[in-house]
Amino acid sequence: MYIFPEGSFIEQGPEIRINCPACAADGVSASTYNQIDKIHVVILPFRWRSSWVICSACGRSLKCSRDVAELYDLSEEELGPLISPYVSLVGRTFAMLALLLGWFPFVGPVLAIAAVVANCVPGVWRWMSRVGLIIAALAHVLYGVAFLLERG
Ligand SMILES: [Zn+2]
Repeated sequence: MYIFPEGSFIEQGPEIRINCPACAADGVSASTYNQIDKIHVVILPFRWRSSWVICSACGRSLKCSRDVAELYDLSEEELGPLISPYVSLVGRTFAMLALLLGWFPFVGPVLAIAAVVANCVPGVWRWMSRVGLIIAALAHVLYGVAFLLERG
């Protein structure tokens, strides 16, 4: 199997106005770009496009589900569902571990606290981290009660 990465390049998009989902600023200007990654698999060329919006108020990178060239004439309201704060792989991994292993003695709360710290922007990953922390807290209250009942 031969895979040759050919590199990536940036296509600048328009300046737009957004209601930022990360810092909650309304009507702030934002720059946009597409990142194109090119790769050859055996002899076939592939390209990936990822589209990004940078909030001028907080400077965060927001993932955009559409090609930025199509964003010119969209209002802030129409842009809302298309952009979301980018959550790193580490943040997503901790959120998932917190949800799955929050109940686990001692390790669970550590994972859940790390997940909450890593996922401070609103969205599904922050929600998952907080649910993980609640699961961890409830499980450890139960362990505490069970421990006391067993001794008494
Ligand atoms: Zn912002």
